[in-house]
Amino acid sequence: MRYCPHCGAKVEDNAINCPNCFKELSRVNITTSAGWQPRGSGRSPTIAVLLAIVPGLFGLWGIGHFYLGRWERGIMFLITGLVLYLLVLGSSGLMDIPLGFIVGAACMAIFALIWLAGFIFQAFEAYALAR
Ligand SMILES: [Zn+2]
Repeated sequence: MRYCPHCGAKVEDNAINCPNCFKELSRVNITTSAGWQPRGSGRSPTIAVLLAIVPGLFGLWGIGHFYLGRWERGIMFLITGLVLYLLVLGSSGLMDIPLGFIVGAACMAIFALIWLAGFIFQAFEAYALAR
């Protein structure tokens, strides 16, 4: 079964003119059924960003990606976010050791900055993928 490129009506494979709009059907312009699917993910960018930001603030990244069905990217972000979260917590643990304060504080600041950048990145990507 083919689809008319002008109105989207189903037409016979050997039809020369569309039975619905009567326009001529050229071989080149015939679209498949996939050509009439809505463009983009069909998901709300707002919900995708909210799902990326709200759980993301608590260290759970990639939830926006899960909402969009991007499981592999979502799991990658989820693991990255949790690892960075643990690194920040681990660095703060260093600060309890005498002389470890400066090293611990520096590591914590660096990991926190990486965490923040990754957090913003995954929220932006969720938005971009949803559009
Ligand atoms: Zn038509």
